[in-house]
Amino acid sequence: LTEPFLVAQPILEQIEAHQQQAYYVGGCVRDLLLNRPIGDIDITTSATPEQIQKIFLKVIPVGIEHGTVIVRHEHQSYEVTTFRIDGDYADKRHPDAVTFIDNIDKDLERRDFTINALAMNVKGEILDLFDGKRDLKAKVIRTVGNGEERFAEDSLRIIRALRFSSQLGFTIHPDTFTAMLHVKAEIEGLAIERLTNEFAKLFSGDFVNIGIDYLQKLEIQQYLPVFSEHPEILDNLPESLQPLKSFGEVIALFHIMNPEVSVLTWVNAWKCSNKIKLEGIQLVKAYQYFLVNGLDSLLVYQLKEAYYEGFIRLMNSLQPNSIAPQQLMSVKELLPINAGKDIAINGNDIMKLFPTMKGGPWIKQLLTKIEKEIIFGRLQNTEHDIKEWIKWNPPEIN
Ligand code: ATP
Ligand code: MG
Repeated sequence: LTEPFLVAQPILEQIEAHQQQAYYVGGCVRDLLLNRPIGDIDITTSATPEQIQKIFLKVIPVGIEHGTVIVRHEHQSYEVTTFRIDGDYADKRHPDAVTFIDNIDKDLERRDFTINALAMNVKGEILDLFDGKRDLKAKVIRTVGNGEERFAEDSLRIIRALRFSSQLGFTIHPDTFTAMLHVKAEIEGLAIERLTNEFAKLFSGDFVNIGIDYLQKLEIQQYLPVFSEHPEILDNLPESLQPLKSFGEVIALFHIMNPEVSVLTWVNAWKCSNKIKLEGIQLVKAYQYFLVNGLDSLLVYQLKEAYYEGFIRLMNSLQPNSIAPQQLMSVKELLPINAGKDIAINGNDIMKLFPTMKGGPWIKQLLTKIEKEIIFGRLQNTEHDIKEWIKWNPPEIN
């Protein structure tokens, strides 16, 4: 077993020491067999949330109604979920009621796809009741049980099928895809947050073009916010689309390709976080600046370092090979300063140069001019040089 499993192993052992069953389950087992990097390790158990809370010292009750608690171990969080069967998905958002059970079989049966219905015990033995290993080998996404029923229970699984095809490069089994086509109208009733989460993963997959192909064939625009009014957006995605690792990049791309829909419209309709909103706005700004000025030092200076990679992915999606990472980094390395605080004088120093003048916006305006001169290499970042420059370029007072 690989490291993440070994780190989690004591959790399973401790549960078993209390005469209960415990397994690694879902994505982590799938990714282990695929030799992919392991994301979260999820654990499924016969123990009830109350029992888990008694066994472990550090437990966070995140979703007790659904049987899930988080166990903290070695500074990491593990979702530990009691074997369960789901009730009706009447509101299409939350399972109405869950029933805890003491047998893993039915718990695996409630899971969406065969490749996600794999469990592994502490000894590394795989429990594969639905031919998940066969489908992993054949690179196929297939529902556990009857597709139409499973998608009708929870239509988010339709989007999940797309996102797994995008992440894994798998095909969707023809029967499963047919079922998706039949049930797709149900997507309309989904909670937007759940959709946004899966869409973000869909656009970030290494095989994003496979996922997008399925998305286009499925034709679900009419059930999705914004796309319902602009169905053409999904049909006109760029040929050179790259995996976009954050949803802010996706929104920036949509807006750039369809300026009539603002970033804010996307953010509101898809209930994005403030972080995603800021990222979308900054990336669009950087793109528009790039169109006029190219990749110059002011662009790199103003772009947050956290957005560099996203900006490159966005640019290369819009126009193949338009920016290489080394290009951006070499501009960055040549920057004389990295932030306003690096300027050799500050607002107070400027005030002292003009003792008769009151403070006001002119100080900030002057500093911004100085900053730009420095960034473009027209002014040395020394106190002496800046003061000389100010003499020749005194503040404009109005
Ligand atoms: P990732 O690596 O992206 O986290 P994952 O397979 O772990 O992929 P999660 O969304 O974290 O996906 O879900 C964990 C597991 O829970 C899945 O592998 C699947 O077994 C089950 N699951 C999650 N969502 C659903 C759903 N809507 N319907 C049925 N089973 C689900
Ligand atoms: Mg997971």
